[in-house]
Amino acid sequence: MKETRVRFAPSPTGHLHIGGARSALFNWLYAKKHNGKFILRFEDTDQNRNVDQAEQKMMDSLSWLGLTWDEGPGVGGPNGPYRSSERLHLYQPYIDQLLGKGIAYRCYCTPEELEQERETLMASGQTPRYLGKCRKLSEADEAQCVAEGRKPVIRFRVPGNETIVIHDQVRGRVTFDSEGIGDFVIIKSDGMPTYNLAVTIDDYLMGITDVIRGEEHLSNTPRQVLIYQALGFDTPTFAHVSLILGKDRQKMSKRDETVIQFVEQYRDLGFLPEALNNFLALLGWSPEGEREIFSLEELAQEFSLDRVAKNPAVFDPEKLNWMNNHY
Ligand code: GLU
Repeated sequence: MKETRVRFAPSPTGHLHIGGARSALFNWLYAKKHNGKFILRFEDTDQNRNVDQAEQKMMDSLSWLGLTWDEGPGVGGPNGPYRSSERLHLYQPYIDQLLGKGIAYRCYCTPEELEQERETLMASGQTPRYLGKCRKLSEADEAQCVAEGRKPVIRFRVPGNETIVIHDQVRGRVTFDSEGIGDFVIIKSDGMPTYNLAVTIDDYLMGITDVIRGEEHLSNTPRQVLIYQALGFDTPTFAHVSLILGKDRQKMSKRDETVIQFVEQYRDLGFLPEALNNFLALLGWSPEGEREIFSLEELAQEFSLDRVAKNPAVFDPEKLNWMNNHY
């Protein structure tokens, strides 16, 4: 049987948020349950969003929670450290392949032109998306664009009229209509890969068998599936975990001051990592039976994706306090 390999792939944009910690925990539990590997990879190709020290802070928070990783930054050996920005040479052959097959193409549209297209589509009630103006540029057209000083991005050519089907381990069968997607950017004008390209190639090269992450990434999944298919990669299984809502049942925002948002803050306030793990595990997952207090090892034995709920979980600080008093 294939070894189970899962990953937590945060962008190093700040402290470890409780939503991220829950994704890391679910991956960690899944790896332990299946005697697999839990990999940590920093997705840092959006250089404008990277924050100094964020990697270290996230690793400190994960370590405090006991969510140790089997491969990744801080672990020696041939497989670490993992940072997307250090893997650009690995992406290049695949980009060349997509360009060579005509599945990807250079687009020279300026931000102003794209904005105009967006506004026109919106004004006529259509989904804003790129309509493929640069799909058929001749060499002469491209030379002209370069002469005008336009900097290209590389876009993925999305096939028309296709239904992309995902068998999500939490949400069941989810379908997407390719018409609504539009050719999306895989290489930005600064030469850096976008998240959708980097994540797909990294997950493939790292042998990731199951992608477990937050629901906010569900709309990116059909794009990633199209890249998997175009490159002839096997698609991993996906599990998109529902959002965490505040007590007011509104989406928790990182700016919301009524709830403590970051793992580091709980640590500094003296919360026990066991209590926070227990609390996070029960945010969306429900064990069999009535029991509510578990150690990390016990959670790993009990955990299964088929008991992860599709509907949003509500963050109840009183419950966390109650759990914190039970260890
Ligand atoms: N880098 C993404 C984030 O921080 C995670 C993407 C993924 O798990 O696929 O939200």
